[in-house]
Amino acid sequence: MAQLYYKYGTMNSGKSFEIIKVAHNYEEQGKSVLIFSPSMSGRGTQELIGSRVGFERAAIPVEHDTNLYDSVKTHTTLPSANKIYCVLIDEAQFLKKHHIEELTRVVDELNIPVMAFGLKNDFQNELFEGSYHLLVQADKIEEIKTICWYCDRKATMVIRFRDGQPVNAGQQIQIGGNEDYKPVCRRCYNGAFHTE
Ligand SMILES: [Zn+2]
Repeated sequence: MAQLYYKYGTMNSGKSFEIIKVAHNYEEQGKSVLIFSPSMSGRGTQELIGSRVGFERAAIPVEHDTNLYDSVKTHTTLPSANKIYCVLIDEAQFLKKHHIEELTRVVDELNIPVMAFGLKNDFQNELFEGSYHLLVQADKIEEIKTICWYCDRKATMVIRFRDGQPVNAGQQIQIGGNEDYKPVCRRCYNGAFHTE
């Protein structure tokens, strides 16, 4: 039976690298996969994942009104279609509730495993919409671990920096700003906003 996997990690935990690795493992055996990534531009152009780790893969853009179930189903029923062995999702935190529900139908009705990779909490430690619904719906939940930027504890949070200063207020999704993010542990997160 196929399952819905949610693999979460903070910034720079190698999520995109992991997707590329999983895709490679399938394709090496001649098994096709589909890779989706939420469109941040809203222009429907192809998204590239993994550029930071030195490998790049094109991903099918997901718009707000994309129906992921229909999209996967179309890919499996095209005359030229290969059997799809796995669906991979990059930046799954940016998906909407209906996208996650559509992914559960890909698993349960099409019997195709879905692996969704993404952040869990935002820079204000609130769950993203996609993360919330993946935590509710996923069959298997796994953490991709990385180390705090400032100490040697496990990073579980992210700090947003603007002009080099940590900020803990603002929009959840900032597009085209000069923000920078660092993975941190809880202690360093709290320490960044307390000046004693
Ligand atoms: Zn730390």
